[in-house]
Amino acid sequence: MECDVCGRAMWRWPTLPTERDEEIWSCSWCHASTHVGGDWFEVARPPYLPVEMRWETAVADGLPLDVSHAFGIFDRTLCGIQQVGMSPSEYGWLPQRGNACGACREAAGVIDDRWPQAMKGEDARVSVARRL
Ligand SMILES: [Zn+2]
Ligand SMILES: [Zn+2]
Repeated sequence: MECDVCGRAMWRWPTLPTERDEEIWSCSWCHASTHVGGDWFEVARPPYLPVEMRWETAVADGLPLDVSHAFGIFDRTLCGIQQVGMSPSEYGWLPQRGNACGACREAAGVIDDRWPQAMKGEDARVSVARRL
């Protein structure tokens, strides 16, 4: 699938067989995601979010607790630390916090710059609702 934000190829998240019939695709360049299937949408494209609202804190065994990393993609923090079984926590990742990882902060800024201004509007990405 092509990323509607930057035009690059997206990759599909591995899904567990127990999960509902929903595919999640992510762009490794601008980190936009697109969900296909699900209860309410045929295709859901979450709108742009500013850096301080966009990321979740990564949790994994072996990840030091004194530094807060942002969960980037599958098994990996935004700054590139890979740890099997890593998952996003329910807490948002706040780049302005003192314990936020500097490399994650930098990566988040770079990714933010990859979104064209026109795609940062609330209605810039088009979702297709499921017809009930
Ligand atoms: Zn993209
Ligand atoms: Zn980090």
